[in-house]
Amino acid sequence: MAVRTRVPIALLTFPVAAHYSTFNRAVQGTFDKHMEDADAATNDGSYYMAMIRAAQTFGIAIPATYDIALCDCLNNGCGCDLVFDSHLPGVVVTANADPGFNLSRLQCPDCAHDHGRPIED
Ligand SMILES: [Zn+2]
Ligand SMILES: [Zn+2]
Repeated sequence: MAVRTRVPIALLTFPVAAHYSTFNRAVQGTFDKHMEDADAATNDGSYYMAMIRAAQTFGIAIPATYDIALCDCLNNGCGCDLVFDSHLPGVVVTANADPGFNLSRLQCPDCAHDHGRPIED
């Protein structure tokens, strides 16, 4: 049996969420750019790649769904800066994506619970 010199990727653990404000402006800018690319992506491949790069920028695990989001509260609410898996239970959509774009605005589960602003339909 061969000796393993590298840890299998499946055994590496990354945090599942990050706080935007803990990164410097250069890193935030890189993350923003990848999220803009994901927002504007016109096919699955470029969407997934942009999401993977965004997650890697903050050193967090990319969820199976490839969807991460920055809490809408950072700009429109309590200032929460959580970057999280978009498909966590309790996530609330505060605004649908603009026409031609992919990303809705989302609140993280804690904010959605405490002061959710779900879109009205
Ligand atoms: Zn939040
Ligand atoms: Zn909030």
